[in-house]
Amino acid sequence: MARGDGPWVWDVDGRRYLDLVGSWGPLILGHRPGPVLQALREQLERGWAFGAPTEAEVRLAQTVHDRMPAIEMVRLVNSGTEATMSATRLARAATGRARIVKFAGAYHGHADALLAEAGSGVATLGIPGTPGVTRGAAGDTVVARYNTLGEVERAFDRWPAEIAAVIVEPVAGNMGVVAPAAGFLEGLRRVTRDQGSLLIFDEVMTGFRVARGGAQELYRITPDLTCLGKVIGGGLPIGAYGGRRDLMEQVAPSGPVYQAGTLSGNPLAVVAGQATLDQLDAAAYDLLEHSGSRMEQWIAQAAAAAGVPVTVNRVGSMLTAFFSPGPVTDYESAKGADTAAFGRWFHLMLDAGVSLPPSQFEAGFLSTAHDGAALAHLEEAVNDSFHALSRSTGSVSRAGV
Ligand SMILES: *Cc1c(COP(=O)(O)O)cnc(C)c1O
Repeated sequence: MARGDGPWVWDVDGRRYLDLVGSWGPLILGHRPGPVLQALREQLERGWAFGAPTEAEVRLAQTVHDRMPAIEMVRLVNSGTEATMSATRLARAATGRARIVKFAGAYHGHADALLAEAGSGVATLGIPGTPGVTRGAAGDTVVARYNTLGEVERAFDRWPAEIAAVIVEPVAGNMGVVAPAAGFLEGLRRVTRDQGSLLIFDEVMTGFRVARGGAQELYRITPDLTCLGKVIGGGLPIGAYGGRRDLMEQVAPSGPVYQAGTLSGNPLAVVAGQATLDQLDAAAYDLLEHSGSRMEQWIAQAAAAAGVPVTVNRVGSMLTAFFSPGPVTDYESAKGADTAAFGRWFHLMLDAGVSLPPSQFEAGFLSTAHDGAALAHLEEAVNDSFHALSRSTGSVSRAGV
């Protein structure tokens, strides 16, 4: 890509696309939103790295705490990967336990211990196991089925007092979008609390995306630790982890759990994040929900009219169209989708000037910059692409329509 503006991107050949990748989630205001551009320009004039805290960093921490009260203390890092890596280290230190439960198809960044049965690119590329990850590094990772509380309970039965934490994407986004089943997150909260284990919400994707206070506000769950990234940096490199004060005080220098970063709390990333969060009021989330529901409807209707089995999973402005009759509730059912058909659709959409995430196992994102003109372009592309898909597969005539 050569440049971006609002909901649009241009490639190096000058072709324009409607952007539904949003840099994989961070660009909730679209490309180059005025307030973020302004904040970055002002910060460039003041300097971009000090190796010491800045006022803007403290303000961002306060904003995060205000919107996610479960985050009593927060540490800024440089990526979502660093956030999950540091949060699991802290969980192990605080509980004196080694094992971590994660879910199949969930992606928590590329730290060794969390790559087991990972989603996102690992799922897209079909990478078997995790070459380069030693048995020692991954041996304490337990993989359970998303939305299946019984598997988590069985893990606790099998390894009582050995599981430091359960880490979960409260809305899965890296096997494609999969919402939590009713009672699933509540169950995880109850089981971890009963078992003296910690609940880590990986809200790197959902944080400030699905609601002003993230998935923990949407589903009314209080995790022990939360990981953030993506939206919190408005498209600049950032991550954060935080939670209960008694836990966070164990992180160095106030406690013994070491974690550091040369560029953590980087002033450019921090002001971009703050300027982004400042725009995200209730009206912004209403707009994102409205645009998301229209996109969902258009795809569902066009697919039905074309006789193509598609299941649209959506939470707010995160959406995946699975080429499957559905329902898609976990990694197994996600993998049952027709990825070849998805690939054909992806290319038809690209030809029609819409840039979707190039994988069945990713979330597409809308931004507040996706205005009437952008949505009209999207609707037309969706209709045309499914029409072409039905002609190319002959599914319409086979269905006797
Ligand atoms: C993107 C993502 C990560 C990794 O963040 P990076 O900044 O790419 O390291 C971790 N967890 C979830 C849920 C993500 O979506």
